[in-house]
Amino acid sequence: KGFSEISVKDIEALAKSSFPLCMRHLFDKLKEDHHLKHGGRMQLGLFLKVVSHGIFWHHCPMLQAGLILGVGLKLDDALSFWKTEFSQKVGAERFDKEYAYGIRHNYGREGKRTDYTPYSCQKIISSTPSVGDHHGCPYRHFRLLFGSKSYPSGCIKWYQSHAPSSGTNVSEGAACGLGPHIGSKGEGRGGDGGEENLRAALSKMGVNSRAMEDVMDKVQNRHYQLACTLTFEAVHGASCDSGINHPNQYFSDSQKILQA
Ligand code: SF4
Repeated sequence: KGFSEISVKDIEALAKSSFPLCMRHLFDKLKEDHHLKHGGRMQLGLFLKVVSHGIFWHHCPMLQAGLILGVGLKLDDALSFWKTEFSQKVGAERFDKEYAYGIRHNYGREGKRTDYTPYSCQKIISSTPSVGDHHGCPYRHFRLLFGSKSYPSGCIKWYQSHAPSSGTNVSEGAACGLGPHIGSKGEGRGGDGGEENLRAALSKMGVNSRAMEDVMDKVQNRHYQLACTLTFEAVHGASCDSGINHPNQYFSDSQKILQA
């Protein structure tokens, strides 16, 4: 068994050893809440899926070049993985009725029968999670993903009406007077505990205090993929010269090091 296939029982150990922070966070939240909203199900579900040669290879040059691989969960295993978690929250019957379709859809077995590819870092970083979502890139969206849940809706409205075009953060110090500053893209400034919790999550992954400052420096300067690359290097004690461009590349590179 290589990188191209894993079973449900492997996922927990792999999440701890080889998932990047965005997927580790989704996995932990799924285990905790037994539920993920649509954006989270897509981001984690596509990351976990099996590499399907053929259609899959056409879409992504990095996959084509064999540089990255999906984690490798086959459709039946994916259904069983998601059902085990969701059943605890919504019951098995509701899972079959409302959620199984979406998983089959991700695997190209429903609807337009597109065999969807896992999301790249670029796509995840530019996504726009809202309060209650757990998808996105924690290095960019940590205030939303790890901060307190008490964001005033007026603050989000302020952001939407004042923020310049997409991808731009609310400017530093531009207080709206409504409390913690949180934008519709899940970032912003405010004392909501997000930074502390990001540090705690990195520490749980195995980032030591010296490397932590370098990672946080990249976060503050909005170099999210570099922050992820430094995390990879700190956790694995090995360099990652190409940098992290894709969560599945993080996974593949990690497995290569751990299995060497
Ligand atoms: Fe995930 Fe990419 Fe962000 Fe790393 S940089 S946490 S792999 S989206």
